[in-house]
Amino acid sequence: MPKWPPHWIEVTDPDVLAAIERVPRHRFVPKHLQQHAYDDRPLPIGQGQTISQPFVVALMTQALDLSPESKVLEIGTGSGYQTAILAELADEVYTVEVRPELQERAKRILDDLGYANIHYRVGDGWMGWPEEAPFDAIIVTAAAPEWPQALIKQLAEGGRMVIPVGENDWNQTLWLLTKLDGNLIKESLGPVRFVPLITPDHSSIS
Ligand code: SAH
Repeated sequence: MPKWPPHWIEVTDPDVLAAIERVPRHRFVPKHLQQHAYDDRPLPIGQGQTISQPFVVALMTQALDLSPESKVLEIGTGSGYQTAILAELADEVYTVEVRPELQERAKRILDDLGYANIHYRVGDGWMGWPEEAPFDAIIVTAAAPEWPQALIKQLAEGGRMVIPVGENDWNQTLWLLTKLDGNLIKESLGPVRFVPLITPDHSSIS
């Protein structure tokens, strides 16, 4: 496995770095792990899921190149930490989570922190949020075994999608996909390790 983080990618966008500084990550971490909230590593958040490593959150956010006018779709609300970073930088954030308890917990924290530009849906992220498409940016925070076609359709012309793709833990690649003149341009951002994007059929939701 190549060295991570790859030395050729750095987070330098001052708006992204400022958002990372503003959002209190300890609020999104379970109480007993709060002393590790500012370590640069993922942490468990229950139900076999994780809050992503801050470096990866920053890297993915930078790749989306958000502006205060951006309409963003996030798949995999999880702890809500990445959602908060997006809400700091974009106009409106639409976030979809398949596990209702996680969505509920994230919403409680994000409401408490005062975010008023986040829209929540419990459901299957593979389907995206067609009623609100197109999106200027789409971020998927769980690894998809294959490219989710519905999400690609919901990306606006000129839009950017960041998504880990790979069938198992050991061969995931983080991709930046840009839709330009109807063409899809794919750029690798390096190897990553995310929990899987599940295809919900009640037995697979732990
Ligand atoms: N950005 C989150 C990452 C959470 S881990 C954070 O930093 O906290 C990935 C999340 O994706 C988990 O909460 C998991 O339940 C969710 N997920 C998995 N498959 C999904 C699907 N098909 N649709 C929506 N969410 C899904």
